This record gives sequence, C-alpha cells and structure tokens, in this order.
Amino acid sequence: MKLTRPQEECGVFGIYNHKEAANLTYLGLYALQHRGQESCGIVSSDGNGLHAHKRMGLVADVFSNQDVFKKLPGKSAIGHVRYSTAGASVEKNVQPIMVDYSRGSIAVAHNGNLVNAQLLKAELEAYGSIFQTTMDTEIIIHLLAVARTNSLVERIVEALNRIKGAYCLLFLTESRMIAVRDPNGFRPLCLGKLGDAWVVASESCALDLIEAKFVREIEPGEMVVCTPDGEIESLFPFKKIAPTPCIFEFVYFARPDSTIFGKNVYMVRKELGRQLAREYKVDADVVIAVPDSGVPAAMGYAEESGIPFELGLIRNHYVGRTFIEPAQSIRHFGVKIKLNPVRELLKGKRVVVIDDSIVRGTTSRKIVKMVRDAGALEVHMRISSPPTSYPCYYGIDTPNRKELISSSHTIDEICRYITADSLGYLSEGGLMQSVGVNNTSYCKACFAGEYPVAFPKPAETPQMGLFHEEEFKEHE
Ligand code: AMP
Repeated sequence: MKLTRPQEECGVFGIYNHKEAANLTYLGLYALQHRGQESCGIVSSDGNGLHAHKRMGLVADVFSNQDVFKKLPGKSAIGHVRYSTAGASVEKNVQPIMVDYSRGSIAVAHNGNLVNAQLLKAELEAYGSIFQTTMDTEIIIHLLAVARTNSLVERIVEALNRIKGAYCLLFLTESRMIAVRDPNGFRPLCLGKLGDAWVVASESCALDLIEAKFVREIEPGEMVVCTPDGEIESLFPFKKIAPTPCIFEFVYFARPDSTIFGKNVYMVRKELGRQLAREYKVDADVVIAVPDSGVPAAMGYAEESGIPFELGLIRNHYVGRTFIEPAQSIRHFGVKIKLNPVRELLKGKRVVVIDDSIVRGTTSRKIVKMVRDAGALEVHMRISSPPTSYPCYYGIDTPNRKELISSSHTIDEICRYITADSLGYLSEGGLMQSVGVNNTSYCKACFAGEYPVAFPKPAETPQMGLFHEEEFKEHE
C-alpha cells in the first residue's frame, strides 16, 4: 500500500489525570482548529482500556453530540486535528491511531512528517507488517510492535531512533501519557498544568482556553512521561543536535496569541511588518491586511511607515482557510467567499496590502483585483516573509516546486502576474532579525532550500513516489 502525502499541518493535545479529560481535550482541539480542519479525534483511557471517537470534519461537528463524551470515559485523553491533501483525506487516516498489540493498547497522535517513511514501510512490509492506513504515523506503531526492548519508554525510543523527520507525538496507554518532540524541534509543543493534571498541546493558545498554566515548552529531543503518581519524568534519549524550529510557524501557521519557540507570535509578526516597512517603503494613503494572518504585520507596517492602518478587507469568519480546498477551481472562488472590500475606504486611495506569504499567487492576484475594483488608484503588495520557493518536507503543506510561483518566477514577473503596482518581500536577513535569532538556528528550507534533515534520494525509494523526482534533483 502506498503512503499518501505527508501528515501535514496538524495539532495535538493531551491531558493526563483530569476527570473531564475528554471534554477538555475537545476544547483544546477547538483552540487548535487552525492547525487542521479536515478531521479530528479523541482517544481516552479509563485505566482499563482505550476508547475512541474520530471522524472527518471540524471539531465542533465531530463532537456536536454530548453523548459522544459518554463513550470517552477516563482521566486521560489525547486528541488530534488533521489537515491533509486530496487522496489522503479518508476516514481510515483520521488520528489518533489506536491499536491493540502484544503489550496492550496504545494510541498515537502525530504532528509533523517523517522523511524516511517509504523506506521503513517497505522494510516492515517485507517482514510481514500489514498497514491499515496510508499515514506515515502508523509506521511508528509497527516499529514499536517489533522493538526488542522491554519497557514502553525503551520501545518508543527504539522506534523513534529509526525515524527521521519532524514529529511531535503524543502516546496514550491505559496508564500513561508520553509526549515526544523530535531532536530538531521543527514543530512547537508545550507543557501545562491544570490543578493536578498535566497538559500537552501544540500551541499555548490551547492551554489558555482551558485555563491551564503554561509550564514550559517541551524541548527539542525531549520525552515527557506522565506517570500514575502524578509526576512527570523528562528524558533526552536521542543524540543531541542543534535544533531547527520551523520559521514558517511564526510567519503564518501558529495562532498569534500563542507563544512558540520562546516568543509570542503576534509580537514577532508585528515586527516582521515593521521591518518590511523599513525595507520597502512606498508613498501611500492606507495600509490594509489580508485577514487574518496578515493583520499583525500590517499593523507593524503602518506603525513604522506612519501610513494609517484600516480594515479594508472584511472576512467572513464562517469560511475556512481557502488553502484547505483541495481543488484549484474552488480555491479561486474561495477568496471571494471569504473576503469583501470596504469600497468607501479604498476608493481613490493608494493602498498597501500586506499578506504573510505568496504560495501559488492565486490569492494575491484575486485580492489585488478586488482592491482595484473597489476603486483603489494604486495597489502595492507587501509580503512579510521572503519568497516561498521550496517545498517543505517537515509538515507544512507547501506544494511541490512546480506550483510555487516564486520557484520559477522573478519578483517582477510575480508582480505582473498578481497585477500589483509594486511588490516587495521581506528579506531573509530581515526575517531572521525580526524573529530575533539568538542561539536558535531556524529551519528556513521553504525560503532558502537548505534542508536540515536529509531525505532519501529517489533511487532509494523507487516504487513509492512520495516525492517528485525533479525536487530531489534540484536539492541534491
Ligand atoms: P496562494 O493563493 O497559493 O498564493 O496562497 C497564499 C495564501 O495562503 C496566503 O494568504 C497565506 O496566508 C496562505 N498560506 C500560506 N501558506 C499556507 C499553508 N501552508 N497552508 C495554508 N495556507 C497558507
């Protein structure tokens, strides 16, 4: 069975030792909904066994019936929200994955993407493993099952020592919850406390919602084991390497109210906007944002440039992120469904439009037209990150190179395509400076094409085709 595209943008949440475990996990997933809108699920433990409810759909829909929570008893639970591309978007791939194996029951929820999944899967299948899903996460379960070591912790370490890539994992057994962040620390993961309960979440905004105290981030390469005595054990079982957290989490993906990698996302985005104004000044009358993700940067741009910030595009909040629509035709339409200009504000004005990124160029093109049709005299597009020219293999769904407009077009060409009067991207140096590089070296593969964890070359994965061959050639 082929593996589908990676488990892209996902969110995980877990709580250990709280009598409302499933209810709180539901709330936690609600706060993490921006990390994945296609499916979600919760697995709970009542000490004797694991119980699951998972489906395609948004958290509010999948858990709309109170009776569902009666089927999720117990004082521990883990949950997952998932995004995937077309094809992988099927019921059997909804997480958390739950299995019974020779050592008991275990469930796992995964945010990230493994880069050696195809090789491991081929190897496991050669030894007789039968996969039930097309997700790379299931490989971890199979590796656990065949591990030679004894204790659960040792088995997890043995399994994870074989995998490469990006992972924030939550494991749940009848008696324990274990959280692991990969040694590169690509994705965020934090630890909280609610009374006597331990909480783990992809982003701190999930802790805020349930009024849990933010304790700290789980470190790159750290494994946190919650045990029945109410304590946690912190282990660093992997070879230590210099972490490379994902800079795109700051640019677009994380919620602005979250603190990730030691910094508040809103503050970082605002600084990206200020820096953008320093780098790409323009004479204009008004600064507007592509909501929601462009708003903090637009405020920073306005502050620095002295040009007033206005809400020139109004968002319909009942429409999901346009990007989640798998078909290009729907995406085109999606921008209009989602955004409408305030004509009275834009008419006769020179407008600066701020967005966080251009991926395919579809959104910017639609927005420039929308602003011009609303009567703007000039439209100047400013992007609060460098050109996204390379695909991500570590869990953000940036498409293959062919679809990334800046991989094959100059800034002038992109400017013409989106029909803007001018286009300016934040420089790589400006991005790094705004994020405030101290001792951290971020993963900026999508901008710079430097990949901190190597992925297998096509010759090693002939039959699987997870990656496009030309992408390998370009990055070898
Ligand atoms: P595009 O129309 O493909 O150029 O998409 C650009 C828009 O998608 C921008 O407004 C971004 O805020 C948003 N965006 C950028 N990266 C992603 C991503 N990985 N997932 C979902 N949306 C994204």
